[in-house]
Amino acid sequence: MSSGTSAFKRVEITVEIFYDQPDQSISLVTDDGRMTDENGQRPGFRVTFNANPKSADYNPANFNRLARLLRAEGRPAPAEVPVKQRQLNRRSTVIAELTGEQVRPTGQPADTTLLGWAICPTCTAVVVNLAKHKGVSAAC
Ligand SMILES: [Zn+2]
Repeated sequence: MSSGTSAFKRVEITVEIFYDQPDQSISLVTDDGRMTDENGQRPGFRVTFNANPKSADYNPANFNRLARLLRAEGRPAPAEVPVKQRQLNRRSTVIAELTGEQVRPTGQPADTTLLGWAICPTCTAVVVNLAKHKGVSAAC
């Protein structure tokens, strides 16, 4: 069944909500045959919301929203979680706040010293042996 205004069309589908306790995720799932992959196969879809900030599915507000619905319907449901920012460029801060773990911010260069490498202060090259680099590079 579909209806809608002139600007927006609406299609109704039936979704089920699944709480995956081991994974601490909640999924919206439909097997609606009108929705398929690019080959006309695999009917339905699944959207997963997770409270783990390390997950690509991290979405605490929608996780809580679905948890409240599950609980209201008398189903097993997780406790609500703090709602933090989802932006990937803020994710390392959120992970540190929630887990205490320090992770490198997304999009930042790797710490070369962890690999035993060095950065030449003159030419900024990443080198295995800075002394040898300076010895063979006349400019450095
Ligand atoms: Zn150099």
